[in-house]
Amino acid sequence: MHHKRQTQQEPSRQESRPAGQCPRPVPLFFVMIGAVAVAEGAIMVLLSQLPPMSALATSLLDVALLALAILPFFYVMLMKPLCREIRRREAAELAAVSEKEFLDKVIDSLPYPFSVIDAHDYTVRLGNAKAMAGADGHPMTCHALSHHQSFPCSGEEHPCPLQQVKATGKPVTVEHVHQNQAGEPRIYEIYGFPILDDAGQVTQMIEVSIDITERRRAENLLREQKRFTTKLIEYSSVPTFVLDAQHNVLFWNKPCEKMTGFKASEIVGTRDHWRPFYQQRRPCLADLVLDGTGDLGGNLYDFVEHSKVLPHGLHAEGWFTNLNGHRRYLVFEAAPIFDEAGKTVAAIETLRDITERKEMEEALAFQATRDELTGIYNRRMLDELLKREVDRAQRYQTPFSLIMFDLDYFKNINDTYGHDVGDAVLRSVAEAMRGQIRVTDHLGRWGGEEFMLLAPETVLAQAAFLADKLRRHVEQHHFDQVSSITMSIGVGEYRADEGVDSLIKRVDDALYRAKDSGRNTVEIAE
Ligand code: GH3
Ligand code: MG
Ligand code: MG
Repeated sequence: MHHKRQTQQEPSRQESRPAGQCPRPVPLFFVMIGAVAVAEGAIMVLLSQLPPMSALATSLLDVALLALAILPFFYVMLMKPLCREIRRREAAELAAVSEKEFLDKVIDSLPYPFSVIDAHDYTVRLGNAKAMAGADGHPMTCHALSHHQSFPCSGEEHPCPLQQVKATGKPVTVEHVHQNQAGEPRIYEIYGFPILDDAGQVTQMIEVSIDITERRRAENLLREQKRFTTKLIEYSSVPTFVLDAQHNVLFWNKPCEKMTGFKASEIVGTRDHWRPFYQQRRPCLADLVLDGTGDLGGNLYDFVEHSKVLPHGLHAEGWFTNLNGHRRYLVFEAAPIFDEAGKTVAAIETLRDITERKEMEEALAFQATRDELTGIYNRRMLDELLKREVDRAQRYQTPFSLIMFDLDYFKNINDTYGHDVGDAVLRSVAEAMRGQIRVTDHLGRWGGEEFMLLAPETVLAQAAFLADKLRRHVEQHHFDQVSSITMSIGVGEYRADEGVDSLIKRVDDALYRAKDSGRNTVEIAE
């Protein structure tokens, strides 16, 4: 830019030279030689026509003619170098002037106050229009110009950049509050840059002042917003933590501390948010949300789904055997936080402990499947299990068998010992049978003094063997209340494409045949 500007100025500099002030020497030399020759010739002709002159006049004329003859040589030897020197100086002056104009323009084009300050007396030696606003044309000190005071700045609030530059010999940055023309306070960041002499002493300082009022305002606003957000999370009663885009913990609020037993001071700034929940490092819901892969983490949670309340969020829940020393059921909800450009910058995760509710739900769900008197499956559950087993058998062609039991002459027990004893006997029979079956077998009370057993993966022969084993076991069982109990039993294996009702009917028929054939026996369904 600088160079370009100089080359652009070259022609205009020549044009601006006043014509005739320093003529071109070589052509002039020949013109002069010619002129002198013509003049001398004319004089010689003229002299031959004139009457003889005195010796003095002749000498004077000779001197004059000689002087005229050496004039061109005098010009070339003396005037030409002189003219060249004058021209050179003139050009240098012009260059200096244009250089200064150029620098002034550069300085004036700066969008902020720029000045050069004398290191000894604080006088502003040079300054652009913005720096000199308010100056009256006389030399002014920097403190008079910006603070209207007669002494240099000092102290914490308005440290003097020049004093610091002088003390350190290095560039400095300080902050000042200056009043603008409207009298409003503006915050300036002042940069001081030392100019050193040959001895390394600071002679001048370049000062640049940047108005950072708006920036500071925005920073304060941002800080205020951040403080507000922090408080919002901090004072929320919901255990909450926040991860930044690099999975580092940004927030870990008090309720989160209380629930997990981990202090914010241990967790914030780390990636250890998994520690309260798991034995080994693994992703939490907030991590999955941050990665944004759409991975539901199905292999990580007992139950996980897309959040019903938070856009792009995830919901997961499950039992945790050792959360702060207790077995707890937690519900997690995590969602990403996007910036204006739509980039994920953080993820927020909330935790809810619904252990009591879950326990109640589970107890209710358990009760809904159980027979109140005996504690084994109730009829509703047997119905459900029958359906499930039929479905499975149909889908995978796996065998399963059904066994139905009816206590023999049970009415007599009630009649002889009373209904309560009858109940106790029912409980004892259920208990006795429960001890004889596999965990995969389903035992339930079908109604009254009738029981049912579903034996998955069991063919007819195995089921018949099991039925007879149970029959003998109950027959031989010692009951506190009654001398002995026997059962009549029907056994059947599921047949392909058979419905639940058909299976039950066949086994029930077998049971009746067992009754008919004298009771305390096992009959196979047809
Ligand atoms: P069998 O089956 O050998 O033909 O004779 P049974 O006496 O067992 O005949 P039935 O099936 O007709 O009678 C079943 C009896 O079981 C009727 C009822 O008094 C008794 N009973 C049914 N449910 C309960 C119960 O929950 N508690 C008690 N104590 N008795 C019950
Ligand atoms: Mg019966
Ligand atoms: Mg009976």
